[in-house]
Amino acid sequence: MSDTPAFGIAGLLGWPVAHSRSPVIHNHWLERYGIPGRYTLFPVPPERLPDALKGLSALRMRGCNVTTPHKQAVMPLIDDVDPLARKIGAVNTIVVQEDGSLRGFNNDGNGFVQSIRDAQPAWRPDTGPIAVLGAGGAARAVVASLAVQGAREIRVVNRTLARAVELQSLFGPPVTTVPWDERETALEGVALLANATDQGMAGKPSLDIRLERLPQTAIVGDLIYTPPETPLLAAARARGNVTVNGLGLLLNQARPAFNAWFGVMPEITPELIRAIEATF
Ligand code: NAP
Repeated sequence: MSDTPAFGIAGLLGWPVAHSRSPVIHNHWLERYGIPGRYTLFPVPPERLPDALKGLSALRMRGCNVTTPHKQAVMPLIDDVDPLARKIGAVNTIVVQEDGSLRGFNNDGNGFVQSIRDAQPAWRPDTGPIAVLGAGGAARAVVASLAVQGAREIRVVNRTLARAVELQSLFGPPVTTVPWDERETALEGVALLANATDQGMAGKPSLDIRLERLPQTAIVGDLIYTPPETPLLAAARARGNVTVNGLGLLLNQARPAFNAWFGVMPEITPELIRAIEATF
């Protein structure tokens, strides 16, 4: 018989972590499904990360999420990394296995793709060209999932072109690159525009882009959720585009993590969305 404690503990390892909405999500689900457990925040400075990871299995925790600045750093410190996470080069979820070993996943890209499908079920990654703004960690996860799920053309547009070219060499033919100065031409004919830069986040300048060339049929997804409507999403909504903010990604990456830790694939309900919105 398993020696996994009945009261399940999971949490978020990051530095800092105080801003996270993940406790609201997972604790809501624990309560809703009557599962004894708790999801909590673990502020872990980089130099304590190896000890913190050893603690996961020593304490028989179910696992954890991983956020900035540890998403890459955990990779060599865990026993096994799922192929998609390896391709992305970052882990956002760790599951403690029955034998105490640690397995890492990255659900961010799939969470983003699912959030777009939740908003427009007829959309598929191969519906039409996709423009991704940004080439950092989040963009990498989004591009990886889009490519794996059949996207045929992903135009990566990044301020530092070399980082976009790196994504092109990693993910091959579906990926093309567009210099930042030509970002508006990258919008022509797309079915999806994804903002994976940090521009438009609370405290940062708005994303500097005009939407005239964006088809009105395109869905616009912003990975940012603070504020819930970025200036990009407001401008897109005003001209009739369907818009999706980063809460969809956050919620959809959380579902498979919760399932792996607690054995139930949880639902995203209006009540849960209201609980998160109440934190803004
Ligand atoms: P990152 O690795 O630091 O990448 C930041 C990106 O923003 C880079 O592509 C960078 O371009 C670009 N950028 C920064 N300043 C810019 C400027 N002035 N003009 C144009 N581009 C600029 O960050 P990340 O981890 O990928 O995160 C990106 C965004 O996704 C953040 O807003 C984050 O909050 C969000 N995110 C949301 C979730 C969620 O759960 N919803 C999960 C993960 C990330 P350069 O390469 O030229 O520097």
